[in-house]
Amino acid sequence: MKLRLTIALGGVLALGLAVVAAQDDPVHEVHPAVETEPMPNEGDSADDAAIWIHPSDPALSTIIGTDKKGGLAVYDLSGRQLQYLELGRLNNVDLRYNFPLGSERASILVASNRQGDTLAVFRVDPETRLVEDVTARAIKTGINVYGLCLYRSAVSGRYYAFVNGEDGEIQQWELFDAGDGRVDAALVREFAVGSQPEGCVADDEMGYLYVGEENVAIWRFDAEPDRPVEPVAIDRTGGEGYLVADIEGLTLYYTADGGGYLIASSQGSDDFVVYSRGEQPQYIGRFEIEDSDAIDGTSNTDGVDVTNVALGAAFPEGVFVAQDGRNTDPDANQNFKFVPWGEIAQALGLRIDTTWDPRAVGAGEVPPSGR
Ligand code: CA
Ligand code: CA
Ligand code: CA
Ligand code: CA
Ligand code: CA
Ligand code: CA
Repeated sequence: MKLRLTIALGGVLALGLAVVAAQDDPVHEVHPAVETEPMPNEGDSADDAAIWIHPSDPALSTIIGTDKKGGLAVYDLSGRQLQYLELGRLNNVDLRYNFPLGSERASILVASNRQGDTLAVFRVDPETRLVEDVTARAIKTGINVYGLCLYRSAVSGRYYAFVNGEDGEIQQWELFDAGDGRVDAALVREFAVGSQPEGCVADDEMGYLYVGEENVAIWRFDAEPDRPVEPVAIDRTGGEGYLVADIEGLTLYYTADGGGYLIASSQGSDDFVVYSRGEQPQYIGRFEIEDSDAIDGTSNTDGVDVTNVALGAAFPEGVFVAQDGRNTDPDANQNFKFVPWGEIAQALGLRIDTTWDPRAVGAGEVPPSGR
C-alpha cells in the first residue's frame, strides 16, 4: 500500500491554540548541568540525540548523538565520549526497547544517513553501553533523507521508522529481524507535507506521529500504517502560533497516567515550546537554556530528547538533552547540553513523574514473527 498526498493548508484544524505572538509570552530560563565533549568535526555537525536507559543502573545510561558530518557518538551522563563511529552523515536518531532480535529483546537505534540516503540500524550492547551496526543491507530510501523517528505500535507490536526527505516526503518503514542478529526494513507507507520537514516524534501509547514542517507547522498524523493520512495542525510559525521557524527537534515526556508533554525546538527564537501531551495538545509555555556558571547555554538548537526516568545522582528527576548550535567558553566544535528535568519543571510548573518506564514498552508481549 502506498499513499501519497500533499497537505492542503485550508483543510486542517488548529487545535485550540490562541493566536498569540510568541514574543508576548515570558521565556523561562533554565541552565545546563552538563555538556558533552565537542564534536570531532567543525561547523554545523551535531544534530540529534537519543537517550538510552541502562537496564539495571540508570546512572550508567547514555546519550547517543549524531554528527551529520561524520557519524555517531555515545556519551555518558558526565558528557564524556565513550564511542565514536565514523559512518557517514548521520542526521537524526531515535531509539526503542524490546525489539525482537533472535532470542533477545534488543535496544535498537535507527539513524538517517545522508551519505547514501539510507537507514542505519544499531543495537545497544547493555554490557559495554556501546552501539554496534546491525543493518542487514544498505536500506536505500530513494529520497534525500533528513529527519527520522521511531514508533512501536501498541496495536500490532511492530516497530517502525518514519523518515522524511528534504522535499516533504514522509516514509514509514517496518523494521524486522532479518536473522543472524541483523535488522532489515520494508517500506509500508508514503505521504508528504508541503515543504521541508525534519524533527519528528511518535507517541507509542496514543498512536500518533508528530512532524515539524520546518517553516510552517507541527502536524500530527495517525502512526498506524493502515490509517488514513489526515494531518492536524498542532501549532504554527509566522506569528500564527508560538513557533519561530525553523521548527526543529520534537520530543515527548511521558507520565505514568498517560499525561506528559510535547516539546519542540523553536530554532528561530532560540528556545523550546512545551505543549500538553494528549488528544488536544495545548500550549503551556516556553523556556530557553541560558549560561550557567560553568557551561554556555544553547542557541539555534536542532535535535532534542527528554526522559522522565531518574538517572542516578546526576539527574534524579530525569534529563532534557539539546543540541547547541554554538559551543562557547571556550569556543569549540558543537556539542549537546543536558538540563535537569526538575529545573525545567520548576520553572514552568510542570510535573515530575519518574515512574513511567520506557523500557516496559513492548516488554511483556509476544513479539510478532519476522515478515
Ligand atoms: Ca544546525
Ligand atoms: Ca531524536
Ligand atoms: Ca533542519
Ligand atoms: Ca552555546
Ligand atoms: Ca537538524
Ligand atoms: Ca561549552
